[in-house]
Amino acid sequence: MPKDDLMIEVKHLKKTFGNNLVLKDITESVKNGQVICVIGPSGSGKSTFLRCLNVLEQPTDGKVLFEGNDLTGISDEELNQLRQKMGMVFQSFNLFPNLTVLENIELAPVKVKKFQPTTAKAKAMDLLTQVGLAEKADQYPQSLSGGQQQRVAIARALAMNPEVMLFDEPTSALDPEMVGEVLKVMRDLAESGMTMVVVTHEMGFAKEVADQIWFMADGYIQEKGTPAEFFAHPQTDRAKDFLSKIL
Ligand code: ADP
Ligand code: MG
Repeated sequence: MPKDDLMIEVKHLKKTFGNNLVLKDITESVKNGQVICVIGPSGSGKSTFLRCLNVLEQPTDGKVLFEGNDLTGISDEELNQLRQKMGMVFQSFNLFPNLTVLENIELAPVKVKKFQPTTAKAKAMDLLTQVGLAEKADQYPQSLSGGQQQRVAIARALAMNPEVMLFDEPTSALDPEMVGEVLKVMRDLAESGMTMVVVTHEMGFAKEVADQIWFMADGYIQEKGTPAEFFAHPQTDRAKDFLSKIL
């Protein structure tokens, strides 16, 4: 897909849980190669929005298109195929505790993508090197720090050769001294041209790495702009209030 082509399109997305209208009407798009940081208060619907992008949450109304394919009206089989191209990293790393670091990364490429084990292993080692953890290949997750486990989780997602990476507060569960090493891996990934949607409270990262900030509150994307525009000149009272509390 050429750079700047629309990779993800969200059209009049709505999501309710019971009678809680969480996403009210969102129409946005993500271009190939773009890095979007989604910020906003707790409970505003950021995780729900991110999970709607790969239909981990089924939208109540509206459409989500990935590379032109409508993800909302297709079979589970087609959805699973397309979802493989969308890597996701969560706040909790969810590594398989009974598998080594290397086995965690190789598993899905071998089981799901039917890669040859030797190919998958070589790729997993390359990715471990990329995230600075080659020497941990044969260790088990519990012997790694939180920051190291999250870097393995990123490598595991990358092993599927995703077209886009979705991150939901990937550093929120980490001790402060480990946040930097995970952000460094994400920054390198952004510089390599990966398309990324990142829900984060790390404003330094958002300022330096995002092409666009999407500010979410009360179930809408209230405001969006470049980091320079958004942080220096927030337009809405909602964004001004949010920034005054965190900066
Ligand atoms: P954020 O990530 O911005 O903190 P969330 O998307 O997690 O916000 O949550 C937005 C709202 O949706 C909250 O009111 C939350 O309680 C509700 N919510 C999220 N997931 C579920 C769910 N699976 N079932 C019911 N309510 C949910
Ligand atoms: Mg959340």
